[in-house]
Amino acid sequence: MAMQPPRILLVDDSATDRELAGIVLARELPGAEILAAGDAMSFAERLARGGFDAAVTERRLAWSDGLQVAATIRRVYPGCPVLLFSSAQDALLEGQRAGLDDVLPKDSSGYLRLPGALQRCLERRGDAGSAEVLLGSLPVGVLALDRDGNILRTNPEAVRLLGAGNSEALVGDDLGQRLDPAVRDTLSRALAGDGVLRGEEVRLQRLDGGMGWARLGLSPLPGTRGQYQATLEDIGSYKRREQELARETSELGRANTELERFAYVASHDLQQPLGLITRYARLFLERFGTGLEEEGQRYLEHVLDSGSRLQDLVDDLLAYARIGTQGRPFEALDFGAAVDEAAANLEAEITAGEVGLSRDELPTLNADRGQVVQLFQNLIGNAVKFRSTEPLRIRISAERQGDDWRFAVQDNGIGIEPEHSERIFGMFQRLHTGEEYPGTGIGLAICKSIVERHGGRIWVESRPGAGSTFYFTIPAQA
Ligand code: ADP
Repeated sequence: MAMQPPRILLVDDSATDRELAGIVLARELPGAEILAAGDAMSFAERLARGGFDAAVTERRLAWSDGLQVAATIRRVYPGCPVLLFSSAQDALLEGQRAGLDDVLPKDSSGYLRLPGALQRCLERRGDAGSAEVLLGSLPVGVLALDRDGNILRTNPEAVRLLGAGNSEALVGDDLGQRLDPAVRDTLSRALAGDGVLRGEEVRLQRLDGGMGWARLGLSPLPGTRGQYQATLEDIGSYKRREQELARETSELGRANTELERFAYVASHDLQQPLGLITRYARLFLERFGTGLEEEGQRYLEHVLDSGSRLQDLVDDLLAYARIGTQGRPFEALDFGAAVDEAAANLEAEITAGEVGLSRDELPTLNADRGQVVQLFQNLIGNAVKFRSTEPLRIRISAERQGDDWRFAVQDNGIGIEPEHSERIFGMFQRLHTGEEYPGTGIGLAICKSIVERHGGRIWVESRPGAGSTFYFTIPAQA
């Protein structure tokens, strides 16, 4: 890109110094126009008229301070590069701190370097001009900072995120003051060190008094001395959702614990009176049964039947409540051995029903032994209970899928309508009456609770008449 000859504002009290600078600049930057300002009046005029592409200022001025002059130029012309060119040695460091575009000592080497330094600043600004359009539309806040964390420049998104009316309101503000104290320290340490921060989540104290959330990044700004680029990515909506979720999860956790405690207490307290009812009904039948008419005996048998159904319910409820509250720590468990143990517990049903039970080689995973045995026992027990008229075959297998093992318990029983495939994992959810198939409707709820305690999930794939396959996952590394 061909550059127009630059117009340079030169602020210096000394006429000879201005002249010398004019000579080196004219030689190295052909066509460059020097606009001199030697006192407050001419500076004010030049500033008002504008039209310069860069400014060079001495630090020591009889009528002002060079840093003040630089700040004024930047405030009025935010895109204009400003160089400090000074014979005051201590001025150079301060100029760097203030984030000026370059600082040069006013000595023979400085004079020689001045045109090159100006050229570089102008080129950089040229690039920045086209980049500015991009920065303006970026949905990420971008800020240039000096070594102390003071804001030098910003894009519109940074202005919005920090709740400032405009970019000028932020210039000179310490970004650290907008952050939580802990992150403020992290930022200062990064600025004093390698100048790099990656993805710190920060709470922002906005200029308008509000609060915001952002992910803060920091890196040295290429092509500058001692300037840094901070990025602020708006994570407000994500943070709000996270907080809502945490609240909901803790409420759910509390509700669940209370429910389990309630189920435990209720079923526990039911045990004793229930035991008494059945015991006395049985005693009554033994002692006075013979003296009773047939109808009386039948009534009493109903009482005993109902008592034993209620006892099953109480036992299952207790088993359900115990999963969360009385689980054992996880240990390495051979799932094949767990299946064998479950099958041994169901031996009577399996032998009597001539069940063809087969299993593949199964993995060893971290789990609660008692609960996994119960899980297989419930699933195999259901397969036996909901068998069809065909000889029953049950097959248990496992397959590694990513971070999980997926187990399958497959039968060729009566199957389930797909519309009920979620409901059956709820408490007391049954698809049949007690006369058709005995049960409490808690078995699969227990399975679900056990699998979830292990960090997995459970589901069924089935169609009526086509058998059922119950799947569940267990993390490979729990
Ligand atoms: P229960 O067996 O006590 O009825 P579950 O919670 O174990 O309760 O099962 C809920 C319902 O899911 C059962 O009533 C039955 O309708 C259905 N079900 C469970 N396992 C099977 C299976 N292997 N085949 C067909 N239906 C099943």
